[in-house]
Amino acid sequence: MRATKRITEQEKRKLQEEHAETLAELDHLREYLRGEVDADAEEADPDLYEREKTLALIRTLEHKLESIEQAFRLAEKGTYGICERCGEKIDPARLEALPHTTLCVNCKSQMERVAGMGVRPGWR
Ligand SMILES: [Zn+2]
Repeated sequence: MRATKRITEQEKRKLQEEHAETLAELDHLREYLRGEVDADAEEADPDLYEREKTLALIRTLEHKLESIEQAFRLAEKGTYGICERCGEKIDPARLEALPHTTLCVNCKSQMERVAGMGVRPGWR
């Protein structure tokens, strides 16, 4: 049986702000990338490294945006702030710092360990 928790107005506002900020940042980065491509058309990728970094940042932000949208869906179902994996309440301090998080600290660190093993076989 999963716990339920209504999203507060304050939490909702924070989530909406984070959503808007992330979208604005994505727009900005995509604009930057487009500008770079035009400016560098005659040269042989002098800023390839910068572009790679920007692309990585865009991927990170897109991932964050998905989390925020997922958090909105959870809010609609009345389970915002409830861990998606174990159904426990997420620490309020964690939600305060990361309004879009849908996992508790334990589940998050477990999943990161699994993901970490995936990208670094033989590590440790
Ligand atoms: Zn959990």
